[in-house]
Amino acid sequence: MAKKAKAKAAAKKPKGISLHPAIDKGVKGKAKAKFAGGTLTCKCATDPVTVSVGAQTAHNHACGCTKCWKPAGAIFSVVAVVGRDNVKVTANENKLKIIDANALIQRHACTGCGVHMYGRVERTSHALYGLDFIHTELSKEKGWSPPEFAAFVSSVIESGTKPEAMPAIRKQLKKVGLQPYDCLSPPLMDYLATHAAKASGVLK
Ligand SMILES: [Zn+2]
Ligand SMILES: [Zn+2]
Repeated sequence: MAKKAKAKAAAKKPKGISLHPAIDKGVKGKAKAKFAGGTLTCKCATDPVTVSVGAQTAHNHACGCTKCWKPAGAIFSVVAVVGRDNVKVTANENKLKIIDANALIQRHACTGCGVHMYGRVERTSHALYGLDFIHTELSKEKGWSPPEFAAFVSSVIESGTKPEAMPAIRKQLKKVGLQPYDCLSPPLMDYLATHAAKASGVLK
């Protein structure tokens, strides 16, 4: 194969793309009926932060934004929501620090290992108020709701992914059953827009 053709083929099918360990070989796990949650543990070898989550998650998805926590080598984060009343820090809370207090989602990260333990929406007027964003891969329990779609896919370019790799990345996401979207999924975008329309009075 000529050098140019080879380079072209490589661009089409980049080898060794790791979207995220939980989805690289297909979406693992199934939501268990009556699943009651579990414990998230950060990656510190000593004095880990633990967070108890007392309910099943919803809207689990792969996220390509630059702000969500991702394991080393992963292009995407896998993140879900749960009601904030179900989230309690149970050990070493003193290690947590909010990454950006001005962001909509206040991500509480471990200062020891960098893992985000939960992201909380504090703006009471926002449609997502009441929800915390968590990474269920930090829990040993099986039965969490699995990822359903991929959000903010184009944003992985902002984290350093080559634009040429995007067709292969979208193809891979579809192959594992995660429809790629460049914002959130249509039901979630509709939900946010409905909230905004009601707040402005356009929708009664
Ligand atoms: Zn830690
Ligand atoms: Zn994100």
